[in-house]
This record gives sequence, C-alpha cells and structure tokens, in this order.
Amino acid sequence: MSSVNTGIEWTDKTWNPTTGCNKISPGCLHCYAEAITQRFPKNFPNGFDLTIHPDRLAQPKSWRTPSRIFVNSMSDLFHEDVPLDFICQVFSVIHSTPWHIYQILTKRPERMLELAHHLNFPDNLWLGVSVESQDYVKRIDYLRKMPAKVKFLSCEPLLGNLELDLAGIDWVIVGGESGQKYRPMELEWVKYIRDQCKESKAAFFFKQVGGRTPKAGGRLLDNQVWDEMPAIWTNHKEKWEKVPVGRNNKSTKKKKLIA
Ligand code: SF4
Repeated sequence: MSSVNTGIEWTDKTWNPTTGCNKISPGCLHCYAEAITQRFPKNFPNGFDLTIHPDRLAQPKSWRTPSRIFVNSMSDLFHEDVPLDFICQVFSVIHSTPWHIYQILTKRPERMLELAHHLNFPDNLWLGVSVESQDYVKRIDYLRKMPAKVKFLSCEPLLGNLELDLAGIDWVIVGGESGQKYRPMELEWVKYIRDQCKESKAAFFFKQVGGRTPKAGGRLLDNQVWDEMPAIWTNHKEKWEKVPVGRNNKSTKKKKLIA
C-alpha cells in the first residue's frame, strides 16, 4: 500500500515516502493509518514504526495525469525521525513534477517551521495542519509563518467547538470521526466553522459527519454538500490538462531547436 487512488474526498492520490508514526494528540487516538498497518501486516513489515522508503521517491514522476497528491497519508513528514535530507528529497520531487499539487498535512508544525529555512517551497505545494480541538489552534500560528502558496486546516476528527483565527488560511476541511469507537461530533460545531470560513473567505470542505463507518452519517450540512477547494486548484488543473505532460517537453525542445 505504497501509493493508491484514494477514497479521501479532498485529494486524488496518496504517496507515502515514509510510513509509521506515533501518537501526539487526542486526534491520534483512533489513528486510521495505524489501523491499516495492523490490518495489512504483510504490507507493513515494520508495523507502525516510522520507516523511510527511498524507493518510493520517484513514483509521482510516472503519474502523468495532473493530480492532487496527499503526501504521507500513513505517516507525518515532519516526524522527528524523518531526516532533513530525506525531507529535502521529497521537496525535490515536488519541484520536478509541477503538474501535480502536493498536500502535506502535519501535526508537527513546530518541526516544520524549524526546518523551513533549509527547504525550498515550490508553488505546487500546499501545507496544512491538523486542528482537532481548541487546545491545538496554536498549530495555525506555525503554519501562518510558512512560505506556502496554499495553507489549509484539517479539523478531523473534530472533537469540539473551534474559535479560529483564519487570517492567511485558504482552506478548511472538517470531518467527524468514524469507526467502532468514534467520538460523536455536533453539527453546530461544523456550522460555526463554515460561518467563520465565509467571514474570512476561506474555502470550506465538509468531508463527513462520521459514525461507525465513514459514510454512516453522510456528508450533508444544511441539506447541502460542501466541496469547496482553493480556486488555485481549478486554474492549475485547467492549465496542466491542456499540456500533455512529457509530449509538451519534446515539442518545446523542438521549437527551441528550430529557433
Ligand atoms: S500524527 Fe497522524 S499518522 Fe501520526 S499517529 Fe497521529 S493521526 Fe496517526
């Protein structure tokens, strides 16, 4: 399970140059990544221990369709055991595949900010932090300082009402927890986040109500699906869908030779 088309509604593919992690906040309690490693032990011989996969670095180069790629759905790129040199290699792949959009989501924004001056941030990289409860809104302050083109929040699993400062934040994803031991979410919390997004002009994406299964509670809020994305995604897709990746490079080279 190194990279797959995914059922996660706000992305197209997952890419896992590292797998494994350890729990650092209440949102991690029923970590789905850990559950997957337990369910498919043959695919994860190291279980949920942090593992680096250099052999996966080149994968996105072979995906020719412009896609939104969620980096490390099975891990956290800014985990303290991921060496800086490896993070630089991940960033280098992002640079060299400008037809994709990469979405990096972390619960470790302190390390992300600490390493920022070593990293070169491409325009096709979106950075996000998880904010599951009011105790973790401070993660947004670290994110705000990052030089990313798009900054986003994942409020999933949403565990309480959130009072957010959305200055500089482009996109907010909200979702309730799913699984046998799910912690119920109140729709009033979601509505309040949606209203704060409206106020600050951030795009709002409601992923799921949650329940015993991801689809148990559906996706409606006030009888409506909320699938907003940063406008930059539509522009990006339109631009790169007109450009046959690879073939375009050849024709560009040819033109230059003729000139
Ligand atoms: S940070 Fe993410 S991947 Fe790591 S334990 Fe928490 S929920 Fe799981």
